[in-house]
Amino acid sequence: MYGLFYLSQGDSMYLEKLKKDGDFLTLTRENEWHLEPCAFSLDNGTQVNVLDTGVIEFIPKKPGNKDIVLSSGVHGNETAPIEICAELISNLILEKIEASHRVLFIFGNPASMNIAKRFVEENMNRLFSGSHSKGEGLINKERVHAKKLESYIRDFFTRVEAGRYRCHYDLHTAIRGSKNEKFAVYPFLHGKPWKKDQLQFLLACGVNTVLMMQSSATTFSYFSSNEFGADAFTIELGQVKPFGQNDMSRFAEVKETLNALVIQNELRYKEFNASDYEVFNVHRTINRTHEEFSLGFADDVVNFTPFKQGELLAKDGEEAIVAEVNGEAIIFPNANVAIGQRAILTVLPMAIDERFV
Ligand SMILES: [Zn+2]
Repeated sequence: MYGLFYLSQGDSMYLEKLKKDGDFLTLTRENEWHLEPCAFSLDNGTQVNVLDTGVIEFIPKKPGNKDIVLSSGVHGNETAPIEICAELISNLILEKIEASHRVLFIFGNPASMNIAKRFVEENMNRLFSGSHSKGEGLINKERVHAKKLESYIRDFFTRVEAGRYRCHYDLHTAIRGSKNEKFAVYPFLHGKPWKKDQLQFLLACGVNTVLMMQSSATTFSYFSSNEFGADAFTIELGQVKPFGQNDMSRFAEVKETLNALVIQNELRYKEFNASDYEVFNVHRTINRTHEEFSLGFADDVVNFTPFKQGELLAKDGEEAIVAEVNGEAIIFPNANVAIGQRAILTVLPMAIDERFV
């Protein structure tokens, strides 16, 4: 039997069920913004701490050297990574697998999962690094929740001895199709070198395309990278599909690699070869500055499509915005953003050189 460390009367119903079926995702979706914390331990000695809705930690009796954060569902309709993490959690609770390292799982926005939307009131992936409390402050539930998620990560990374290895993979699926279906965003490192072994990890996940950001951001991955020195990425794993409609065979590599990350002491990668990767640098941001704003290309033009110098990217009021150089490629285009916000990000291919270690 499990040894219970903490259990109040009200929790016992969900706790007994969770221990039996391992279904933390359903429990999370039934409790959109809050779940009473509780803890229990598994027969293998792993301590399981439910900290809130969607937030669960696994602390092995003798943890390895890694502190791993796996988040999904920061956008509620991006279901494939949520399903992958739900299965990992269930396998850990049911002791089909055993964690070798400390692992924190986060389902970011359960309420938006239940309405099959990216968010309820506000895009959570713009609310980190304190952004939740800026401007009008904690005016909606997503802002309040983003602040709590920050505190769970802070506590997870800092309540153990310093100097341990930290990583945070924030898993998404893109709205728009992509020429490079799966890709990752490497947050701005303020001049620190990029890591080849992280590219190798991504490649093992089936992700060979990486976008290097050149400025700080209010994303979840930038938060963990910047404040805790974690190897952190936003990982886009393909296109948005409703729950249960994902072709999980397309996610086999990422499933296998995340599983290995959690259960193995060390990951072994294929030898590093720069030609395996497509790496891009941000070239510029195109903001919408007029009411009249349209994209210069069709809705089905996919992310990373390159343009020739002079080709139309957007019309902003009277101004035609054209590609400045050959190969300028577009990502995340959205003509419907508020005036003053980013409508297109453009990127250029870059070499893997001495800036990588
Ligand atoms: Zn997303």
